[in-house]
Formats: sequence, C-alpha cells, structure tokens
Amino acid sequence: MPTPLVSLDVAPGTVVLVGGGPGDPGLITVRGLAAIQAADVIVHDRLAPLACLEHARPEAEIVPVGKVPRGHQTPQGQINAILVDRARRGLSVVRLKGGDNFVFGRGSEEWQACAAAGIPVRVIPGVTSAVAVPALAGIPVTHRSLTQGCTIVSGHVPPGDPRSTLNWEALACANTTLVILMGVTYLTEIMSALTAAGMAGQTPAAVIENGATPQMRVVQATVDTLPGVARERHIRPPAIIMIGSVVGLDLDREDLSDAAHTS
Ligand code: SAH
Repeated sequence: MPTPLVSLDVAPGTVVLVGGGPGDPGLITVRGLAAIQAADVIVHDRLAPLACLEHARPEAEIVPVGKVPRGHQTPQGQINAILVDRARRGLSVVRLKGGDNFVFGRGSEEWQACAAAGIPVRVIPGVTSAVAVPALAGIPVTHRSLTQGCTIVSGHVPPGDPRSTLNWEALACANTTLVILMGVTYLTEIMSALTAAGMAGQTPAAVIENGATPQMRVVQATVDTLPGVARERHIRPPAIIMIGSVVGLDLDREDLSDAAHTS
C-alpha cells in the first residue's frame, strides 16, 4: 500500500484556508482538493479555481464573496463573520482563494479573526500566481546568470500614496525581478516612479492577464512603453506585471547557462 498523500485537514467547527492556485483546477494541491471534497461550507471569491467546486459534496453550502476590483466587494469583516459563524455552528469550513492565502488576499487576517473567536484554523498553502503565472508565460522569475532574486509587491495603491508602505526608490535599484500584483490600475504611476528613481526605461517588462486560464494574454514591452501598450490592448485585472531582464529571455533560444556558474 502506498502512503496516503493527505491526512484530512477539515473537521467540524474548524476553518481551513485553502490556496487554490491561479485559476487552472489542475494547479490546486492534492491536500487542498481533499479539503474541498470533505467540507460542509466553501467560501470562495472570483479568483479561486471555480471548476474545483464541482468536487464539493452535493449538500455543501457554497458561499461566493465578491472581490471585484473597484466593483462590488464583500467587506472583509463580513467574510470573517461568515467563517466564524459557520464554524460556530459546528460545520467544517473551507475558505478557498486563488493562489496562496498568505500572499496578499488577506488570508492572515482571516486566520486572526478565527483565532480571536477561538475557532481552530489552519492553512493549506497554494501555488501563488506571483510565480506560477510568469512560469506559464514562459518567464522564469529568477535565472542564475541574470537575476538572483525576485521581489513580489502589491500595486493596489500608487507610489507616494499615504497608504503605500513600499520604498519604490529601493525597488528601482534592487536588481531583482519585480513582480507586481494588483498593478493594472496604477501601471503608469508605478512605471514613472521606477524610472524617476533611476530604473532604465528600456528595462524589459511584461503584463500577463488571466494566467492559467484559456483567456491568458501576454504583452511584452519595456518599462517606458508598457502602460501605453497595456492600454491599447485593453488589459484588465487579474494580471501580473513583471519587470527585469528575465522578461527578455527566450528560453528556447538563448543559452545563458554559463558553464563557469554550474556547480
Ligand atoms: N493570493 C493570490 C493573490 C491575490 S491578490 C495569489 O497568491 O496569487 C489578486 C491579484 O493576484 C490580482 O490582481 C493579480 O495581480 C494576481 N492574480 C491572481 N490570479 C491571477 C491570474 N490567474 N492571472 C494573473 N494574475 C492573477
């Protein structure tokens, strides 16, 4: 008998935060899918891999919570209250999100809300769109001879905004691949801040829309030209913005695997 792949995470009166991966039902983890199959209640938003819900028990309660950018939003407090309420009724609750619950998306706040209410909570990590979507577009977030790191940031507020905690000047010269989530709305402001802080306008940049879905689109340009090109192509969220020399790398053609670097 092979070792079972999963031990069951869901239990009556508890909440499991499940990372669903970036849209393709094939990219959820085995453990995440097992949780969906066993749950009494599944609370999900629009970036979750909705096809996975077909694997829920027929009697499971499915609760969609709106998270449309600049559209209808279910306030975070209300989502927390749903999780706590269902768990208090003795039900097993899964909070299903796209990507990973602890990469933006306020999963850690949901954990805190459950903990504050005395509800046992655990997390099943997911494949984050921040690295999976670039990979699906053929762009590695790091490449040994080009860039030795990647920095993942949120662009949901523009540089200079009082709500921003990011140091865009530092990001402009950190020499890592920059991966920006929730950055479509303020794309122009973000690119201007980076070039104002010294990043070369010719640095390769890309936007990848609807990654891991049949509607995926990839637009490649430079830091200077990406906002205009994205506007022309009517790029909309959800999309990932990538900046750095890895964007210009053609994996099928170029051999940058310097033999001196292999160890
Ligand atoms: N927790 C999620 C991110 C939530 S924030 C994760 O780990 O992936 C929402 C942002 O994620 C979107 O605005 C977009 O920038 C990105 N995103 C999520 N799914 C995506 C997809 N399928 N294609 C492109 N970007 C995606």
